[in-house]
Amino acid sequence: MVIKVTGIILKEYVVGESDKFITLFTKELGKIQVGAPRAKKFDKGMASGTELFVYGEFVMTQFKHTYKLVGVEPQFTFHHLREDLMTLSYASYIAEFISEVAIEGSGNEQLLSLMLYTLHSLEKMGSEACERIRRTFEMRALGVLGFRPELDHCISCGTPTPQNPDKRYALYPAEGGIICEACKGAARVLTMSYTTWYVLHYILGAPFKTLFHFEIKPYVLKEIGNVCDTLVTYYIEKPFKTLEFIKSLENLA
Ligand SMILES: [Zn+2]
Repeated sequence: MVIKVTGIILKEYVVGESDKFITLFTKELGKIQVGAPRAKKFDKGMASGTELFVYGEFVMTQFKHTYKLVGVEPQFTFHHLREDLMTLSYASYIAEFISEVAIEGSGNEQLLSLMLYTLHSLEKMGSEACERIRRTFEMRALGVLGFRPELDHCISCGTPTPQNPDKRYALYPAEGGIICEACKGAARVLTMSYTTWYVLHYILGAPFKTLFHFEIKPYVLKEIGNVCDTLVTYYIEKPFKTLEFIKSLENLA
């Protein structure tokens, strides 16, 4: 059976002299492994169409859970991501993250769109904006995956969160939301400023088109980073290889 799917390449590996395997994240089938025989050596179109981050339509044959690539019509190749090592590393992290949370047999159009908008922003805004784009992606991805933290009510008693620029807000990661002063007790919480609380709201609700269009002060980015680190570790429970590499790059700088 010949099928056509829309998706993006999360991983590519060469097998032997000329064959390739790619991991695709598709709208229709979620994450799938696809064989691309002879893609490496003999077919230029197939070689460039099977590179990391290529987004487009993939035509393949399907036999049970085995897919073989027949043709690619790329829509975006994101090749500018390769011009800067830092930008490329962050983009690789996005791909690793998606690869970790995506499921075979279950497409997630929202997650696919989020990935595309994230890569576009990395490509357009460059290495200065990498960390902000990464944190925005992480928080929104948690929302898309159903791990949206409760920000508007205390997760213990349900009291609406008061809006007060002078206040610090306590997030209780184990329960996935804001906890009020009265309920907090000795719980291990992360605290954040009103601005951070406000920006988290924005990230979880903004349309993808304008999601990355904001500026924040370094301390807000740091607080958002702490929230993301805690929640991503809590829900995804996996160290990312690409993050270790980014850290080693930053230590060099
Ligand atoms: Zn409470």
